[in-house]
Parts: sequence; C-alpha cells; structure tokens
Amino acid sequence: MILPCAGFLIQNNILFVKGLMILFLSVLAIKLNLCFSSFPLSSESICLEGRLSFVNNEFAASDFGHRYHYLPLAVLHPKSVSDISKILKHVWRMGPESGLKVAARGHGHSLQGQSQADRGIVITMESLRTPEMQVHNGKSPYVDVSAGELWINILHETLKFGLAPKSWTDYLHLTVGGTLSNAGISGQAFRHGPQICNVQQLEVVTGKGEVLTCSEKLNSELFHGVLGGLGQFGIITRAKISLQPAPESVKWIRVLYSDFATFSRDQEYLISADETFDYIEGFVIKNRPNLINSWKSFFDPQDPDGASDFKSDGKVLFCLELAKNFNPDKTDVVSQEIKSLLSQLSYIPSTLFMSEVSYVQFLDRVHTSELKLRPKGLWDIPHPWLNLLVPQSKIKTFAAEAFGNILTDTNNGPVIIYPVNKSKWNNRTSLVLPDEDIFYLVAFLSHAVPSATGTDVVDLILNRNKKILDFCEAAHLGVKQYLPHYLNQEQWRGHFGPHWETFRTRKSTYDPLAILAPGQRIFPTKISYL
Ligand code: FAD
Repeated sequence: MILPCAGFLIQNNILFVKGLMILFLSVLAIKLNLCFSSFPLSSESICLEGRLSFVNNEFAASDFGHRYHYLPLAVLHPKSVSDISKILKHVWRMGPESGLKVAARGHGHSLQGQSQADRGIVITMESLRTPEMQVHNGKSPYVDVSAGELWINILHETLKFGLAPKSWTDYLHLTVGGTLSNAGISGQAFRHGPQICNVQQLEVVTGKGEVLTCSEKLNSELFHGVLGGLGQFGIITRAKISLQPAPESVKWIRVLYSDFATFSRDQEYLISADETFDYIEGFVIKNRPNLINSWKSFFDPQDPDGASDFKSDGKVLFCLELAKNFNPDKTDVVSQEIKSLLSQLSYIPSTLFMSEVSYVQFLDRVHTSELKLRPKGLWDIPHPWLNLLVPQSKIKTFAAEAFGNILTDTNNGPVIIYPVNKSKWNNRTSLVLPDEDIFYLVAFLSHAVPSATGTDVVDLILNRNKKILDFCEAAHLGVKQYLPHYLNQEQWRGHFGPHWETFRTRKSTYDPLAILAPGQRIFPTKISYL
C-alpha cells in the first residue's frame, strides 16, 4: 500500500540521539512508505522513488574477492539520481558524529571489500536505470549511460548503431562507475588509454549530496578527481563514453616465447608501431604442461605438427596475445597485414595459434570462462589478486624474481603482463602511475580452490603476493599497485606519494565528512581531523 506523502516531524530532543538512530527511524518510516522530514532542524523531506531495505542485505557484504564481509545497516535501491542525492544530503546533515558511511556498489566485483560499508548504507548502482542508454552518432560519437550499467549491455546497445566503446576491460560484467573509479585497463589501452581517458562527461553526486555535471572543461577538478578516484569524491551517476566504428570480427592470435627479454621486446615494439594490432596483451605460463593442448579446441595451430611436438621442458613460457579487428569484406587484406606483422616478431615458430571470432565473442571471452567455471564451483571462491604497474626499466628485474623464483606455477589462475604507453593517459586523473613513459600491467589473478588436505590456499597465495610486494620495495622498483589495497592511511600516503595532497584536497572539497567509499580505508575519519 502506498500512503500519500505526509510530514513526519521528529522532536527536537532527538537531536542528541546518535545519528545512526536518526537514520534508522527515518528509514523505518520509509519502509512504511511515508515521505517525511527526517532531519531534525530541517523542513526538507526524504521522498524516495526507490527503496531502502534492511533485510536480505547479505549480498552487499560480499564481493568477487570473497574475503571481506561487512554487513551494511541498509541498502538503497535507487530509482533516480535524486534518491542518491537525498540520502547523501541526509547523511551529510547528520554531521560527523553519526559516523555513517555510504558506498556505491557497482557489480560488487571488488576484491577486498571496496564496495562495502560496515553498518553503513550501500547503494546498488545497478538499480539506477533511468533514463535509458542513448547513443549519439555525431562527429565525436558517444553513449550516454547510467553509471550502474554493465559494459556488456553497452556493447550490445552500441553495436546496433555500428559503434562500440574504444577501451575495455578483459571482463565486461562490470559497471561503468566501478571501472571508472579504478581505470579500466585492457589490451586496447596502449592505443586509446584506459577507460578513464575515454569519457566525455560525467554526472556526479558529491559527498554533500550536490548533483554536478563535469567534464574536461566544466568542474574539471571533480571530473579528474572521480576518474580513478576509488569512489572518494562522489558517486558517478551518468557517463558519456566515447565511441568508434565497431568491427564485426576479430583474428585472435597466441604465440609463445621462452625468453622474457625477447617477449617483452616484441610487446614493446608492437605497442609503439604505427601499423599494429588492435589488442596487445600477454601472460605467463609456468608448470602447466597441458595448457597449450587445451587451446586446440578453440585455436587452430598454424603448424599442427610443430605444435603437437612442442615441449616446454619445464621452462617458464610467455604467451603474446594479439587481436586484429576486421570486417569480412577485408579478410584477405587483414590476413596479409597479420602475416607481415608476425614476420617481424621472434616467437617460437611452431607455436602460432589463430582463431577467428565475432567482436562480441572476443570481448566477452572471460564470461565464456565464467560460464564454465560456475557450475564447477570455481567462480564464487576467494580471489586474492595482486595487480601491479611496473616501470619499463625494471620489468626484467621484476620478471626474473617474480616469475623465475617466487611464482611456482600458474595453476591457480592467469598471470597477465603487457606494456602500455603513458602518453595515452591523462595525468590529471586520480590514478597513480609509475614515473616512466612505458609501464607494464602485471596481474596475478589467482583463485583459491578449497584444498582437500586442509591447506589454507588463500594464505599461501597471500604469502606469495607479499613476497612479490616485499621484493618490489626492497629493490626500489617504483612499482604502483593497481586496484590498490592498503590497511592504513600511512600506506595510502606512500601509494600516492607527491599526489597525496591533491587527493586529500579533493576529498576535503567534495566529501569533507569522508562519507563515501569507506571500504577503500583511505579516510577513516572526517577530513579536517587528519
Ligand atoms: P564495485 O566493485 O562494485 O566497486 C568498485 C569501487 O568503486 C568501490 O569502491 C565502489 O564504492 C566504487 N564505485 C562503484 N560504483 C561507483 C560509482 N557509480 N561512482 C563512484 N564510485 C563507485 N579491471 C581492469 O581495469 N581491467 C580488467 O581487465 C579487469 N578485469 C577484471 C576481471 C574480473 C573477472 C574481475 C572480477 C575484475 C576485473 N577488473 C578489471 C577489476 C574491476 O575493474 C574492478 O574490480 C571494478 O571495481 C569492478 O567493478 P564493479 O562494477 O563491480 O565495481
């Protein structure tokens, strides 16, 4: 039953009751479908189009990492930007004493509780679906989307217009707000920069509840702040994402190396060449003798005899993964281009694997693996991931120790490695990068399958990650964490280095009570107390 909007004044003496209690009463009233004046000295009313829920919120205390679990007090399922603004204004007016925090939750694919709010409010951004996605096919085409939209849905919608975003992540079942709060890096970033560099405009609700539009020119400090800003300065509610003509098909290629120096030289050559592939990544293979055989179900070995005879002899292998986009009327031309590009590389000749897939199949490839892993119970398990950005000048030192000594095998999940050009990245965003023109993304994407012997696999992987981080620090490699995770502010200051003051100033401007994204553990308390 929906009751008409009614005023519900809370008595003045409730001023002295803890803020948390005020919110509790407020939301209780909302549950009764009352719109009411919820903050004592204000006549303003909260009148939500969506709903707040207080039960069955366990989903908001979980994420892809499956290691951190903080139950929120309430979950807001917003139907409009105004719902988000009203909740944030409400919490803002309660003041610092309430200690109440608010976290936006995209698809909950964080690794260490970043989208959770311990006894706070979680906002499910996927509930925010209005207005509908709109593709603008002009001189600089873009798609205008809700920040809770999944990238896979954006791909399907934009393809109807023959367009697609330029820069991706390897997995598309993530939200726009979630990846823009980090960076959104994949094999196209060498050419287009990460996703945060392919945004024309944003709509953001700040920690004070103001709704602001921002871009390179308008409210630019907020614009750059929220891009890679780990959710600290505002909740992104809409985004205009740049588009380009989409291809229909992709030639997807894998070749192997046994020597890291040759592998990385070829990768760096390809990301710098004028005529090159459209996607360039790579990964490490260690002690996985059957992996290459398993590729044969979806890749054609170009030298079938050589590929069957190929023996890795226990060596660490490096797989260069490439893709070239094309439309079917250009099959011959693209085949020639690929031949010419491959002829300049020094991979092991018998290890050329190629496949032709649709553009959607290629971009959505990790979801194909997800669908295989889920029924085996291998998806919703702990993921103690470690993502690093390693300067080019240190990558060989890093590889020798991390892949040669610390890593024992890659059976617990892929280890991805590829270089990108910093010139394609906007240095005004909040993302922290190594101090070199070229740096590598190195991602240890481990999963912890429960062990039959009772061994704590999570602990083993965390220990390995710690060894890698300790080595980077001891050897002064100038490595930065991507999807960073730290336990205290001192460590965060170290992460941001000279950028800390900018980050802190942005926080004091847009979220001075440090209400937003508590799961990042950057600002545990009101900014002026720091
Ligand atoms: P969530 O995990 O829900 O949120 C992440 C953070 O952003 C939280 O702090 C949250 O509070 C904040 N946030 C969420 N929405 C908003 C919003 N609208 N406004 C402001 N803040 C918000 N990353 C890459 O860069 N490249 C990859 O190739 C890649 N591959 C991945 C593959 C898999 C299988 C997975 C699980 C993750 C991958 N990631 C990759 C990491 C991914 O980008 C991050 O985990 C991202 O945070 C997940 O997005 P999400 O929508 O689930 O966000």
